[in-house]
Amino acid sequence: MTTKPVILTVDDDPEVLQAVARDLRREYGDRFRVLRAESGAVALEALQQLKLRNEPVALFLVDQRMPQMSGVEFLEQALQMFPETKKALLTAYADTDAAIRAINTTRIDYYLMKPWDPPEERLYPVLDDLLDDWLSQFRPPFDGIRVIGNRWSPHSHEIKDFLARNQLPYQWLDIELSEEAQDLVKYADCDKLNLPLVLFSDGSSLLKPSPLEVAAKIGLQTQAGKPFYDLAIVGGGPGGLAAAVYGASEGLHTVLIEREAPGGQAGTSSRIENYLGFPVGLSGGDLARRAVTQARRFGVEILNPQEVQGIRIEDPYRIITLADGSEISCHALILALGVSWRRLNVPGMDRLTGAGVYYGAAQTEALACQGEEVYIVGGANSAGQGAMYFSRYAHHVTMLVRGESLASSMSQYLIDQIAETPNITVKVHSQVVEVKGETNLEAIAIQNTQTGEIEVVPANSLFIFIGAVPRTEWLDGIVARDDRGFVLTGTDLSQNGHRPKGWTLDREPFLLETNVPGIFAVGDVRHGSIKRVASSVGEGSICVQFIHRYLSNVL
Ligand SMILES: Cc1cc2nc3c(=O)[nH]c(=O)nc-3n(C[C@H](O)[C@H](O)[C@H](O)COP(=O)(O)OP(=O)(O)OC[C@H]3O[C@@H](n4cnc5c(N)ncnc54)[C@H](O)[C@@H]3O)c2cc1C
Repeated sequence: MTTKPVILTVDDDPEVLQAVARDLRREYGDRFRVLRAESGAVALEALQQLKLRNEPVALFLVDQRMPQMSGVEFLEQALQMFPETKKALLTAYADTDAAIRAINTTRIDYYLMKPWDPPEERLYPVLDDLLDDWLSQFRPPFDGIRVIGNRWSPHSHEIKDFLARNQLPYQWLDIELSEEAQDLVKYADCDKLNLPLVLFSDGSSLLKPSPLEVAAKIGLQTQAGKPFYDLAIVGGGPGGLAAAVYGASEGLHTVLIEREAPGGQAGTSSRIENYLGFPVGLSGGDLARRAVTQARRFGVEILNPQEVQGIRIEDPYRIITLADGSEISCHALILALGVSWRRLNVPGMDRLTGAGVYYGAAQTEALACQGEEVYIVGGANSAGQGAMYFSRYAHHVTMLVRGESLASSMSQYLIDQIAETPNITVKVHSQVVEVKGETNLEAIAIQNTQTGEIEVVPANSLFIFIGAVPRTEWLDGIVARDDRGFVLTGTDLSQNGHRPKGWTLDREPFLLETNVPGIFAVGDVRHGSIKRVASSVGEGSICVQFIHRYLSNVL
């Protein structure tokens, strides 16, 4: 734990307050943080701040006779915020009756008489006892980011997903279910309808933040350190990360720009079982974390979250424009953009996406689905992995598959695992034709693709794992693509044996090079690529060899 538990002492007499605080610090300062307040009202304000920072309070040592708010009155309110904290009153002789009454009514643990000299005899033994008792029950609180929101809010989901995918530990507090969440929203003085509220361990908070604002707050790098790099890589999936490791390890000044979270699609996988060297598999998060560490060790700058939105050529420079309007110039550029989930275009989707209907997102939402019925759309490996992952949390998982079986779209090892998992049902010849609900998903309409019959089933959670499309519109007019948006490279560029239009060099495009010399594409975004982690890693790695060859003629 990083912060020490607090001892809070309250007294309206400044000299007494100073003396108590001094004695407390002398005896307990190495293990506890001693705070003081000159009135009950000031102390309550301080407690609200401590609550927002999730700092534990071990002991209240409070004067009974204070103007405006007596010690007992203060403790009654303080107890609502910190019910486990030990409570001791400091009283003058004349107040002892009130103190004794308070022991019964307010569950005060002890009352001590003023003056308390010598503290070794008249203060510390009692407090030692109370603090030992408190410590024996104490469980350190969560010491990280807390997100307070509504389970069905798309904005709350966006923030949770951003934190989870960037492997930033956080605690989720549902405003509908958690009293603590309701109290914190009150202490932070914010509107319950205006969530999510993100609380940081330094006591600061952000209301309805964007992922970029959260990133800035926690110190993720979103701006380039230099205006020019030898190599810029757009996309931090397996392909981009592999290229970054090889590029930087071979001496190229390298920057990698990632829109969401390093790891790409692979980072959302709960278990990758076919990647070489990991006989029992590894989670996509684990793979991403290792790759990022490796890339950083070689000096790669990773900007995240940051999106590349434009590109232009000023030979010999390739210049990309980021979402914040800034530009990065480089000699060689790798497009490792991967693919995004294909949208399910049925009535209700726009309204309910993020409010019970999700694309991928298994790891972010699985806990919230504890004991519930979960529906999954899709029949490929990603859907199979999602189903296996949810089966550990949900009461039951139904996979809705359009085809007649999983065999044509899923690896056999996953088909076997699903068959052996009793709480997964595979419903073939089934497609979702509508999602229904007022503020969140309440039901889905499923059509039998053979009979046309439609069945409406109650549902709170629908996870979509279908197909994938490249998002490459921003390359329009510069980088050639096929009619589905995948980037053309190498021999795929040749038109009836001719070099691509506008190509002026006295050589053919390299294997992974696009129609623009010095701009390369690797991984899932490339036309004709094999959609696998290993293939993207392989392409990212070998691409760097072509870049060396390209640079040797440019510089
Ligand atoms: C759930 C799931 C499970 C899978 N399981 C396996 C498995 O077990 N084994 C296997 O071999 N394969 C698996 N795959 C497939 C594998 O993950 C992909 O083939 C692989 O991730 C492709 O890597 P990539 O680097 O080409 O692209 P991606 O992983 O898609 O990464 C591309 C990255 O580029 C970023 N990006 C895109 N455009 C921009 C932009 N304009 N600016 C900045 N950043 C941008 C994206 O945010 C993304 O992070 C799985 C896929 C999914 C979704």
